[in-house]
Amino acid sequence: MAPMSEICACPDCGCKADDAFSKENKAYCSKSCANGHVDGNGCGHGCGCHG
Ligand SMILES: [Zn+2]
Ligand SMILES: [Zn+2]
Ligand SMILES: [Zn+2]
Repeated sequence: MAPMSEICACPDCGCKADDAFSKENKAYCSKSCANGHVDGNGCGHGCGCHG
């Protein structure tokens, strides 16, 4: 089945999610989004999200 959304679950991020970074049934676009930006890094896609 397709996921509910193909957009990253990070609230400030509108990037396309990647299955490789899914976590707890939510899809994220990057490792940084998936871990809540605990490292302070953005997603790397230029959207400017930092959690
Ligand atoms: Zn993003
Ligand atoms: Zn993201
Ligand atoms: Zn993010």
